[in-house]
Amino acid sequence: MQRTLNTNTLKNINKTVLLKGWVNNRRDHGKIVFIDLRDRSGVVQVVFNKETQLNTEDVVEIIGKVSKRPEKLVNKNIKTGSVEVQAEKLSILSKAKTLPIPIDNDGKEINEEIRLKYRYLDLRRPRLNKNIRLRSKFVDLCRQYLFKNDFIEIETPLLTKSTPEGSRDFVVPSRLQPGKFYALPQAPQQYKQLLMVAGFERYFQIARCLRDEDLRADRGFEHTQIDMEMSFVQREDVMAMTEAMFIHVFEKLGKKIIKKPFPVYSYKKAIEKFGADKFDFRSDKEKKENLMAFAWVVDFPFFEKDENGKWTYTHNPFSDPLPEDKQKFLKGEIQGIKTSQYDLICNGYEVGGGSIRSNDPKILSRVFEVLGHKPKDIQKKFGHMLEAFEYGVPPHGGIAPGVDRLLMVLTGETAMREVVAFPTTSSGQTSVMDAPAEIDSKQLKELHLKTI
Ligand code: ASP
Repeated sequence: MQRTLNTNTLKNINKTVLLKGWVNNRRDHGKIVFIDLRDRSGVVQVVFNKETQLNTEDVVEIIGKVSKRPEKLVNKNIKTGSVEVQAEKLSILSKAKTLPIPIDNDGKEINEEIRLKYRYLDLRRPRLNKNIRLRSKFVDLCRQYLFKNDFIEIETPLLTKSTPEGSRDFVVPSRLQPGKFYALPQAPQQYKQLLMVAGFERYFQIARCLRDEDLRADRGFEHTQIDMEMSFVQREDVMAMTEAMFIHVFEKLGKKIIKKPFPVYSYKKAIEKFGADKFDFRSDKEKKENLMAFAWVVDFPFFEKDENGKWTYTHNPFSDPLPEDKQKFLKGEIQGIKTSQYDLICNGYEVGGGSIRSNDPKILSRVFEVLGHKPKDIQKKFGHMLEAFEYGVPPHGGIAPGVDRLLMVLTGETAMREVVAFPTTSSGQTSVMDAPAEIDSKQLKELHLKTI
């Protein structure tokens, strides 16, 4: 007999079906026991006309006949509320002990460490289950949109070289080359630019990015971005492509976007009007209904002074200055130079950022000089980019919208862990598995490492 999914019982009235799933809950009336059976499609009520030893969360297989419920017993709260299944045969596939955490509520009151230790149970919680499914749907819609627009999906390496993307790297020791290290990518920035040199013109990747930063509710060690890059474009082209994608995807997911086209603010205007470059311009009512307020922020200063009084970049060292500032920049001006960076914000979060890249080795070298790199260092660290740009590089630019934050705004969740299957705790411990963890001395030796 073929398995029927719970929600397909609706199409099988008066037929005998084979169902498989978890006992979501049970209501025992002595000689008659009701359970809600849960599978990936939803729940259906199963009726046993004799005593039945079942615990919630047992995994079972049930053969039974689907019948229509009398009008007054219809349960409007569930999709299959107009039917129930009269159990004829029950097999228990796996018994479940009492769960260490409740899963039938919202779960937010449970201690984070316990939730993440038992994340595989936590994920059974309807809210989280829904969030993770929505995430998959969201990524699928973005992918489809990009494929339709002639983008191709290309993977770039995870073991790569440390570069100054702005955060601390996670590093991986090399076994074969003692004393040397790979860095995990903070973003595929340089590879995607090299793919433009290679002539692919429209690239994307659902890319994992790793940054060893202090953790916050909206920032983890790992995040996923829809990493995109396009050739022969100006900033308006990348912004238009991204905007059209999100209007399409968010509306497909039933969301209402308050302002279309997305308003564009200069950095100066944003600071004047909202006091910040991330802002939420929704009214309280719009917030309550979780409407979407997207906006762009542009015309950021390229450089600012860090706490030691040294010049640092505000966003991305590979960006091009705005066209009108390029000559001034090459002549030595720093303070007033604006970058071609564009940030996408939604409901108060920065949900993506990108820029037109500098494809002129002179400008790129000058940026690194301003950042305090000596010419020799520039060659050592970025020589591969400067060289690549000597062999015919198209004008190009891109963006990297963040999947985690976009899911937070879609779901109205305020913590990233609610939209990530296996997040780390706020102290950097992984879900379920206990990492970071010590490694044994043999492994350390192989990696030419000593711990102190
Ligand atoms: N690489 C940038 C980042 O990860 C995004 C981009 O400019 O495409 O923030």
